[in-house]
Amino acid sequence: MAIGEFDLIKCYFERSASSAGVELGIGDDCALLDVPAGKHLAVSMDTLVAGVHFPADASSRLIAERALRVNLSDLAAMGAEPLWFTLGLTLPEPNPDWLENFSVGLFAAADEFNCVLVGGDTTRGPLSMTLQVHGAVDSKNALRRSGARIGDLVCVTGCLGDGAAALAVIQDKLWPGEDAREYLLDRFYRPRPQLAEGQLLLGVASAALDISDGLIADLGHICECSNVGAIVDIERLPLSSAMRANVSVMQANTWALAGGDDYQLCFTLPPAKQLALQTLIDSGQLQATIVGEIVSGSGVICRSEGVEVNLSATGYNHF
Ligand code: ADP
Ligand code: MG
Repeated sequence: MAIGEFDLIKCYFERSASSAGVELGIGDDCALLDVPAGKHLAVSMDTLVAGVHFPADASSRLIAERALRVNLSDLAAMGAEPLWFTLGLTLPEPNPDWLENFSVGLFAAADEFNCVLVGGDTTRGPLSMTLQVHGAVDSKNALRRSGARIGDLVCVTGCLGDGAAALAVIQDKLWPGEDAREYLLDRFYRPRPQLAEGQLLLGVASAALDISDGLIADLGHICECSNVGAIVDIERLPLSSAMRANVSVMQANTWALAGGDDYQLCFTLPPAKQLALQTLIDSGQLQATIVGEIVSGSGVICRSEGVEVNLSATGYNHF
């Protein structure tokens, strides 16, 4: 590379700020890190490949910021608090503008969520990146996918469907007004990892995950891991006014059920914890909606006005 590998790392990725728990950061063969006492280390990795997960000419600032936010969403889903991350970067060539913008986007997200870059690897090749986030979670309470029980309520944070609506905007298939457009694109490029929400749900939720592939698919993972089934009431789905104002009810519900890229949490709630959840909602700490319940059996069933709907027969099959 024209700029040496070590200069590149120094210039764009090494920052001097010392951080809690980082005994030794970038610059040696390994980072040395202190895991807080009584906590598990929660670890998750995502790889993004140019031309597969993002267009090769996409803004490097947006790619970096989105990549870290999406990775942090996995920590949120366990109820973990972010600590550190590592970055594997493969570049066809070291383009200074690209790297500068990448670094700005990366550290914007890292600073916002208190996650410190402690190492990585830099190689030459087709553009791709791998991020690994590390977090701390109470060793007894981590929010797993396997804890849902029959009779639990099914809940989600925030609004659903915005990620798919934003993708339609990006693909020039949906043309909302300026405010809605801005809201939707921001949701897509800067998804909100539900970190505070996940931590509030420790000891409250019985199971949780983040919704990256649509509620039906992801709630299906909770059902499979917990050996239960689930019913979702379509009328209860939380929809943003930005999306609702610009598409039919059918389209809005379809995106909420089966669209991707929302990064909200889906969690299950034992009936005995309903009051605790309501207190969190009423105090403004958590935006969450009950959308259904856990039942015996397997798989996710959708209900509209109390009647089971066959999604493929009613047009809910766009995906
Ligand atoms: P080694 O050859 O021992 O694997 P490297 O030369 O790959 O070491 O890396 C030197 C230092 O720079 C290490 O501390 C490594 O973690 C860090 N590093 C390398 N690439 C990156 C990157 N893209 N982002 C952050 N740190 C990096
Ligand atoms: Mg190396």
